[in-house]
Parts: sequence; structure tokens; C-alpha cells
Amino acid sequence: MQPHKIIIAIDGYASCGKSTMAKSLAQKIGYLYIDSGAMYRAVTLYALEKGFFDGEKLQAERLEEEMESISIEFRLNAATGLPETWLNGRRVEQEIRSMAVSQRVSPVAALGFVRRRLVACQQALGKEKGIVMDGRDIGTVVFPQAELKIFLTASPEVRARRRVEEYRSQGKAVVYEEVLRNVKERDRIDETRAIDPLRRADDAILLDNSELTLEQQDAWLMAQYRRAAGLDPSDSDAD
Ligand code: C5P
Repeated sequence: MQPHKIIIAIDGYASCGKSTMAKSLAQKIGYLYIDSGAMYRAVTLYALEKGFFDGEKLQAERLEEEMESISIEFRLNAATGLPETWLNGRRVEQEIRSMAVSQRVSPVAALGFVRRRLVACQQALGKEKGIVMDGRDIGTVVFPQAELKIFLTASPEVRARRRVEEYRSQGKAVVYEEVLRNVKERDRIDETRAIDPLRRADDAILLDNSELTLEQQDAWLMAQYRRAAGLDPSDSDAD
């Protein structure tokens, strides 16, 4: 018997490992994985490249005028089996992860016209279910009806350290204090914005992964998925 498809929403603080967790589960169970943060990052990259920023100050009205001409897609990389972010027909998976984008994305994501557009796209992607999506408002706004909601957290220091290791493994030089400041600042803006702020949905399961290995986290998530999909939670080898 085919298990019935569900929607899995993974929300939480910046650099908690949401996408690592979400990607790994989606691959194992054959679900679509969507990184909603990549969409906010792509809009930010667009604004940067168009010269809509004066330092860190955004000219929001110019971005709003061009919102309709921004097209964001996820295309599967056949070699890795993972979806990659494309902005107006160009692969931007690397560019959207830069510090320049990280430092500007949260104010962009606080804009109502940006959120309205991206939330509508995200909801359309989940119409058929069978989706794992990570972000900040997936369990509260995008898919309040999701069958499984996880809210992930870890201390800011643990998160900044992980992010620094990730940058360095890609040969990028970053300063720990700068990354830590960025992680805390994004959390602050995300939690205090007026529209769809970051918060745990009442029915989301809280996981602090500060002390967990990736294997422990994956096993925990697989058991949650199996329970939510009506499968035997202990039978982790079967789909
Ligand atoms: O997930 P990631 O850290 O890449 O997201 C980048 C930024 O996009 C976040 O700091 C947040 O400001 C914004 N975001 C959001 N809502 C989402 C996903 C991301 O506001 N669903």
C-alpha cells in the first residue's frame, strides 16, 4: 500500500540546519524539497544586482514596481538529485548564499508585497502534497494545515559555528563574530516583523538540535514523519 502523501513544514531560527534536515528527509521518502528562504534570498539578489540598495538601505518602491518580472524556479540538478534555485533563467544557488545577501535578506522578507507573492508561489508548489518545505512561517502561514510541523532551534553560537564551517568548507573566508552577529540580527528582524513573524505554531513539535548528530536528527525526523503519515514509526527501513 502506498503511504498517503502529507505536507511537512520545518520552521526555525537562522542557520539551524533546517535545510539539511529537510533535504535529507525529502530524498529518503521521495518528496519534493523546497527551501523557501532561497526564494527570499533570490529576490534580495535581484534587488542587489539592480542597484536597489544604497548600502544596506533598500529602495522598496523600485523593487515593488519590478516584482512581477521576477521569476524564481527550482530545477533539479540531475547529478546531485537536489533542487537548485534559478532567478530569471539563471542558476543562482551559490550567489544567494553570500554574506552580501545574508545581510540584506531579512528586511526584504519583512515587506508585505514580497511575502504575498512568495507565499502564493509556495502554496501552489504544495498543492499536490508530498512536500517538505523549510522557512520561518511555513507551519503558521503557508501551510497551517500541514500534517507534520517541526520547529527547530539551537543556540546562536552553535548555529554560527556550523555556518562558519560550511563557508570554510567551500573555501570562503569568514569571521565567526560577523556570522554570529548576522544570525542574531536575522532572528531579531524575523521575530519582530509586523507581517508573518517567525514563531512556533501551536501544533509544531520543538526540537533543539544543539547536541544532536545529523544521524540522530535524521532518525528522529523519520520517526516523526512515519507517525504523521500513519506508518509504523519504528519501521524506519520501509517507506
Ligand atoms: O532560510 P534562510 O536562512 O536561507 O532564509 C533567509 C531569510 O529569508 C531569513 O532570515 C528570513 O528573513 C527570510 N525568510 C522568511 N520566511 C521564510 C523563509 C525565509 O522570512 N519562509
